[in-house]
Parts: sequence; C-alpha cells; structure tokens
Amino acid sequence: MERTLIILKPDCLEGHHVGEVLARFEEAGFPLIACKMKEVPDAVWLEHYAHLAHLPFFQEIVEFMSAGPVLLLILEGPDVVARVRTLLGDTDSRTAAPGTIRRTWGTDKMRNIAHASDSPQTAATEIKRFFKPDEIFSAQP
Ligand code: ADP
Repeated sequence: MERTLIILKPDCLEGHHVGEVLARFEEAGFPLIACKMKEVPDAVWLEHYAHLAHLPFFQEIVEFMSAGPVLLLILEGPDVVARVRTLLGDTDSRTAAPGTIRRTWGTDKMRNIAHASDSPQTAATEIKRFFKPDEIFSAQP
C-alpha cells in the first residue's frame, strides 16, 4: 500500500477544474485520505522545488505556485505513486499523452494543473511537509 501527495495548482483552481481532476482520481479507485486548501508560503515552495533551484525559471515557478491557494491531497492505494503520475502525464501539458489530466486541462510546462510525488520516498517527505498526522484519515496503519 502506498500514499502519494497531490497538489492542485493555482491554474487548476482558477480554471475551475478541481471537480473534474478529483473525479479522475476517484474513477481510478484511489481513496482520498487527506485534503485541505491553503496559501503556501514562498519558503515552503523553495523547499518543495529545491531540485529546480539551478534553473533560470525557478523564481517564476515559485511565483506561479504562490499566485493563489492550492488544494493539497493525499491518495492511497497499491502502486498509487506511479499510477497517478501516469494519469497526470508528462510535465509539459502540450506534449503529455492525449487524455491525461495535464493534456486535458494544462496550458504549458509550468501551468500543468497538478503536482504528484515521483516516488514513495518523495511522497513520505512531501506528506510530512504539508500534513500533520491527525489530518490524515486512513484505515491503513
Ligand atoms: P513534474 O511536476 O512533472 O514532476 P518537475 O519536478 O521537473 O516536473 O518540475 C516541477 C514543476 O516545475 C513542473 O510541474 C512545472 O510546473 C515546473 N517546470 C518544470 N520544468 C519547467 C520548465 N522548463 N519551464 C517552466 N516550468 C517548469
């Protein structure tokens, strides 16, 4: 059993796509075990995207993520990390596979609707970054 951390980005909320994106996860059969809306401080985005700090558009990504509130979710299920990454599609919305979440509602490489953890190890770190244990509702130990 795995968990993954999903962030519905400001473009998802601004475009009113939250319901449709959540429906994709629910249709795939993954229980939602945590959910909250939050304006995340820049300092947390600097940490969350630290692996991109060397890139020229790093500050732009931080500004984009800070442009409004985001929706933070945790999904649970077998192989959920890889399966949700497949549902999202590649980073660039324009070249993501047809039918994926990013291709359907995303705009470009930055405005791509949602973040999802890229490994179970990353998921564990990201879940701790955004959620307290008593905000997570799971039947699993
Ligand atoms: P992913 O979100 O697909 O795991 P990365 O970890 O490489 O991709 O990048 C994190 C986020 O930074 C992306 O989802 C996207 O919003 C933004 N980003 C990545 N690469 C670029 C780029 N070349 N130009 C603009 N934004 C980018």
